Amino acid sequence: MRKNWRTSKKLFQRAEELFPGGVNSPVRAFKAVGGNPIFIDTAYGAKIFDVDGNGYIDYVMSWGPLILGHAHKDVVDALTEAAEDGVTFGAPTLLEIKMGEIIQKYYPSMERMRLVSSGTEATMSAIRVARAFTKRDKVMKFEGCYHGHADGLLVKAGSGAATHGQPSSLGVPQSYAQETITVPYNDIKAVEAVVQTDWKDIACIIVEPIAANMGLVLPKPGFLEGLREITEKHGIVLIFDEVVTGFRVAVGGAQELYDIKPDLTCLGKIIGGGLPAGAYGGKKEIMSLVSPDGPVYQAGTLSGNPAAMAAGIETIKNIGRKGFYDLLESKAEILEAGFKDAIKRAKADIKFYRIGSMFCQYFTEHDVYDYETAAKSDTKLYAEYFRSMLEEGVYFPPSQFETCFLSISHSKYDIQFSMRKSYKVLRNM
Ligand SMILES: *Cc1c(COP(=O)(O)O)cnc(C)c1O
Repeated sequence: MRKNWRTSKKLFQRAEELFPGGVNSPVRAFKAVGGNPIFIDTAYGAKIFDVDGNGYIDYVMSWGPLILGHAHKDVVDALTEAAEDGVTFGAPTLLEIKMGEIIQKYYPSMERMRLVSSGTEATMSAIRVARAFTKRDKVMKFEGCYHGHADGLLVKAGSGAATHGQPSSLGVPQSYAQETITVPYNDIKAVEAVVQTDWKDIACIIVEPIAANMGLVLPKPGFLEGLREITEKHGIVLIFDEVVTGFRVAVGGAQELYDIKPDLTCLGKIIGGGLPAGAYGGKKEIMSLVSPDGPVYQAGTLSGNPAAMAAGIETIKNIGRKGFYDLLESKAEILEAGFKDAIKRAKADIKFYRIGSMFCQYFTEHDVYDYETAAKSDTKLYAEYFRSMLEEGVYFPPSQFETCFLSISHSKYDIQFSMRKSYKVLRNM
């Protein structure tokens, strides 16, 4: 049974006349896996339906925000109510305060924060204030980590930048890129070596505490602790980019999970409940440099947008309920056992990684702990797996170097269906 994708194909042709590559964000174009992107019509819970009427179990979940699943009733209701009161004023609202207080409750390291409209804005602004605070210019980041598409951060970046074999972007002046130092993820010795000689120039170290944009790479024990120690010693600002991990791996993010307090934190994805939202914040003395308190300019027409706040607050309210993460974890455990079993029975060379409701299957026999080891994966095989799973009604990220997301809406049946299909596909490969 082959699926019919006629309408999607037609829409993609129209889109190609409008948008570069027919899309408004690169990975959506399916370039890394081949074929035609499917155009989504509707979605509910764990399922998406394309414009040709095909249904899929979704493990992309809009790349992370939808921890409750698609079109969750409480979120839709909150959003509708907010819309009826007017969606933007460019003036303060109570909803921003509620959001700020919720974030602060779970992220006490964010003594002061600023709400923005995307993860990119959050990281870009956090770096600006870190530079102002330290009066130093250089930024240290890790190969394969993605922090949005601000110029200085598109150096050896992950996500779409990694997928398209161009880990750095044209259009970023050499002089900007020179302000960014990159080191391999999980390599604390490499960090020490650079900091030893260059610490006087380094404003901040920005890190995904769990790297989710080169597949899924977990921090080795001691890596994050090491970063905290080194940065503290040399007056370097430590920035945790928790745009993915915030409210995902625990309600208090990776900083709660690993019990490490960064100087600044960036949030996004889940805090908007599926609408555009982000936040950055941290130590009072650093954040007090932000305008209008201080000399670091940063602003936004739609910052703290009431509709996004309403959707985000409702999402966090739901996940803040007792037992939420236990339930999510129990679903994820079933999924892990099932997918690993499929890999074993099909005798496939796949490394399966998971933390909480995030997981990734690398098509390699080697352990993956940084960008270089992730890049050893067989992307052709992944592409074949992706396309076959799509035929079977399971929607995975259209790239080997992305994380898969489970939501609270995925039922045991959805998960069992997916692991059965995975076995069938792997066996036939
Ligand atoms: C998605 C992501 C970003 C960028 O967020 P946008 O909202 O897409 O701008 C930044 N950092 C990490 C870790 C991300 O996963």
